[in-house]
Amino acid sequence: AEMARLVASRVLDVPDFPKPGVVFKDLMPLFADGGAFREVIDGIVAYHGRDSFDAVAGIEARGFVVAAGIAYATGVGVVPIRKAGKLPRPSYAASYELEYGEATLEVHQDAFTAGHRVLVVDDVLATGGTAGATLDLVERAGGTVAGFSVLLELGFLGGRDRLASRPVHALLTV
Ligand code: IMP
Repeated sequence: AEMARLVASRVLDVPDFPKPGVVFKDLMPLFADGGAFREVIDGIVAYHGRDSFDAVAGIEARGFVVAAGIAYATGVGVVPIRKAGKLPRPSYAASYELEYGEATLEVHQDAFTAGHRVLVVDDVLATGGTAGATLDLVERAGGTVAGFSVLLELGFLGGRDRLASRPVHALLTV
């Protein structure tokens, strides 16, 4: 509840971004507050337990920020899950539906040591399309998903339901 209040106090609602009718949740004020950022990173690590994962994967681009904090705090390595066409070596790709069209994420085929337990992180869970594709990629690349954490979950979009049977953790759900 303390974590939820902290996140709630550092989110800005931006109406009509990226398009009319959408209210974008902007977490930049949380990232910009060093004390608050450290608290949420420590909160995610404490929730899972620092010995419960061997690597952390962050989803481009704000997930990179969260993942790097967790990696530094725990000493595990960080793996980027990237938008299509950015990775230089052989990669796996997973596509998912957007409201209009589709998007693709990629991961290097050798990104994970076989059997490593991977904590996947992002800033916001909305419809769950991004997270679903990422969990698929992590497992194709040889990792085992230890859990999925976000700072903020938009519960009314039902993203959690699309991540069937995965442990999903949000510091704040609205
Ligand atoms: P989803 O695939 O619909 O769950 O959207 C989640 C992805 O889009 C994450 O990578 C988020 O960073 C981004 N996203 C969607 N909605 C928001 C928002 O309101 N604020 C910040 N990021 C968002």
